[in-house]
Parts: sequence; C-alpha cells; structure tokens
Amino acid sequence: MELDKLGGLVVIAPRHWSEAYIGSILSENTSRVQRFISTARQRQATPLNYGAGTMHLYLGERYPLELKPALGRKSNVSFNGHEIHIQSRQHDAESVRKVLQGWYEARAMKVLNARLQTIAARADWVRITPVPMKLRRMKRTWGNCSSSGLIKLNTHLIKAPLSVIDSVVAHEICHLQEMNHGKAFYALLEQLNPNWRADRLRLRSDARLYLQ
Ligand SMILES: [Zn+2]
Repeated sequence: MELDKLGGLVVIAPRHWSEAYIGSILSENTSRVQRFISTARQRQATPLNYGAGTMHLYLGERYPLELKPALGRKSNVSFNGHEIHIQSRQHDAESVRKVLQGWYEARAMKVLNARLQTIAARADWVRITPVPMKLRRMKRTWGNCSSSGLIKLNTHLIKAPLSVIDSVVAHEICHLQEMNHGKAFYALLEQLNPNWRADRLRLRSDARLYLQ
C-alpha cells in the first residue's frame, strides 16, 4: 500500500487479483488500512518547508525547489516544467516562502483568469466580457461571485490540477446567472460541467494540500 501524491490510497497487488478480491482483503483489515492512511497522510501534510529540493505543488504536480543566489537585488522565479528555480538574496524559509508566494500569485492571475475567460465563453448567459476577476488567499472558500458580477477566486487553487480549477470556475460562472444554489443553478452547472459531483468530492478530499 502507498499513498499517491494527493493522499489517495494505492494498493499494489498481483495482476490476476480481481478488484472484488482486493476490496474484500481491505475490508477485513479496515483498522490496519485506516492506521496506515492516517499516518501516511500526516507525514504528507507536515508543514511545508522551503529548503532546496523540497517539493511544492503547481497545477496538481509536485516540483522540487532549486535555490540560487540572486544576481541583482531582485528575486526571480522561473519554472522549466521540472523544477521551480528561485533566485533570491536570502534562502531562509521565510524569504523563500515569500518569493514562492509571489510566483504563485502571478501564475494564479494568469492561469485562473485564462480558464475563467475560456469557460465563460461557453456560457451563453455571460454578458460582460472579460469577466472581472480578483484573487484572494482564502481559508474556507474556493471562490465567490458578487451580485455586481465580480468573481473572486482563491489564489491557492493554482496548486490544484486544471480540472479542479475548471470546476470551481464553472461553479462561479453559473452564479453570474443564478445567485443561489437552486434547481436553476444546478441545471446551468450540469451544462457547463457535467462532472461537477466528482470534482466537488475530489476538491473536498484534497483541500488541505492546497490550503497551506
Ligand atoms: Zn456557489
């Protein structure tokens, strides 16, 4: 048994074992399985550390930090698809955290806004384009929509996979038309994201990974 990077349980078993058989073994050992999951998740969720080589989430994947001295006064972050390179004058945890956070914010502004405008283009009830968006680092909400049509998205979403970002964005776009979670709201959501139920469960179970 092991946990995947998002904390889901992965069971390694011989190829010829059926899912039902594996399920029956797991259910005979529930307390052992639960103990394993909770210790492994605790290990995964330990407070982030910002040293060289520590892993940080971006769009649903974890990447190691590479720390280099800054050439000038300004710090700089670049991402090559494999590592997050941070050039800064100081490499203590607090300085690196701030630089990384600035990068997350810049990426969130770009990526979340692009997803918002793309999905809004598929919603025929959206009248104002581009849809106005703001970012906030929030503890409990992924997004909200004001009656004036401003969509606020949680900056931490940049750590989640695109499919998760899209599901939050689709939800808020439906609020541009229906402020409440009534039948009409879910009819729109069904149109924009037929997969919303599974996406919502996934976001709930992975929330603590993104909110740190
Ligand atoms: Zn809502």
